[in-house]
Amino acid sequence: MRRCGQHRREAIMKHQFEQLRLDSVCRSFVNTEGQSVAALQGLDLNIRRGEFIALLGPSGCGKSTALNCIAGLQPLTDGGIWLDDERIDGLPPEKRGFGMVFQNYALFPHMSVLDNVGFGLKMRGIPKAETVKRAREALQLVQLVGHEKKLPGQLSGGQQQRVAIARAIVIEPPLILMDEPLSNLDAKLRIEMRAEILRIHTQLDRATIYVTHDQDEALSMADRIVVMKEGVVQQVATPKEVYGRPKNLHVARFMGYRNVLPFTLEGVQGEGATVESNGVRLVGVAMDGFDSKRVSVALRPEDMERAAPGTGNAFDATVTTVEYGGRDSLIRVKSAFGELWARVAGEFSEGEGITLRVSTSRTLVYDGEPS
Ligand code: ATP
Repeated sequence: MRRCGQHRREAIMKHQFEQLRLDSVCRSFVNTEGQSVAALQGLDLNIRRGEFIALLGPSGCGKSTALNCIAGLQPLTDGGIWLDDERIDGLPPEKRGFGMVFQNYALFPHMSVLDNVGFGLKMRGIPKAETVKRAREALQLVQLVGHEKKLPGQLSGGQQQRVAIARAIVIEPPLILMDEPLSNLDAKLRIEMRAEILRIHTQLDRATIYVTHDQDEALSMADRIVVMKEGVVQQVATPKEVYGRPKNLHVARFMGYRNVLPFTLEGVQGEGATVESNGVRLVGVAMDGFDSKRVSVALRPEDMERAAPGTGNAFDATVTTVEYGGRDSLIRVKSAFGELWARVAGEFSEGEGITLRVSTSRTLVYDGEPS
């Protein structure tokens, strides 16, 4: 930990790495019918020291499997994992020495907070005085000083997760693995804990790999996001890129581009693509090279705004459903090119006519029909 003395700091530096490399990592399971099912299909990933990486994707896409393979809790079916020049995928979890934080905290209920945090050090044969000192330092880092003697059951969910984080970092791991650590907490606490986890990550200067299915969590926390689908990486990029330039329709849908509609491609000029459907012409961003005139346009409800008729990228529609949301309303509208969702300020009634527009940079055009 940074606040420790020079001697400790040097010792920690020896544990640091420059790069964790996953090379074509595959992991298969045998299902109840005796067939082999691939949970990870050739995962390639380079993680640098100090990075915060989010593994993002829907349930069952292989996020936890990837984390467990890195931790050593599951063997690989194929491929390799390297920490700088050392191949580590044959090593047991304790030899890898990564810190792990799980969704369900996994604390020992009958042990005090201090003993829970010090447990890993005790198992490593660290003398008692040193164990207590380091456990106290870790509790200080997660801001739980004063709770040392309590049992986990006497703490709130957020505090229990802090104990779990302290227990993971007390062994001074080069890499911290977190599997949906905030999903048992309520919405307000989740947002507070995001900031807390980032503070701890920055203070420790280690790499963190964080599994989540929550886009907002990944966008607000990660340096880079790995978007997965059915065991295959779809995109590895910064939050800004994943949000603004999703690589394919799957990533776009997952990042909230809820409206995906078929259009006909009229032309491409540099990065821009002009598309048409039933008399509505839109100019958007060409996200692909185009093999045919059949394209898909992806639009986020939040990127729609009311406009005067005849404005660029504007279209007329009729409101069919209204979900009142206070500051704005989520409305479903029927346009000449299909039905879509829009989140716009104001109050609406069903049957009302409306003109909407969406900027060119937020109109994403992909090759092929919507899948
Ligand atoms: P979630 O967000 O629901 O935890 P995930 O993205 O973490 O999902 P994994 O738990 O990694 O997904 O599972 C990936 C696939 O591997 C799923 O199809 C799952 O059913 C399968 N799988 C995972 N563990 C096992 C297992 N022990 N035996 C058989 N199949 C498994």
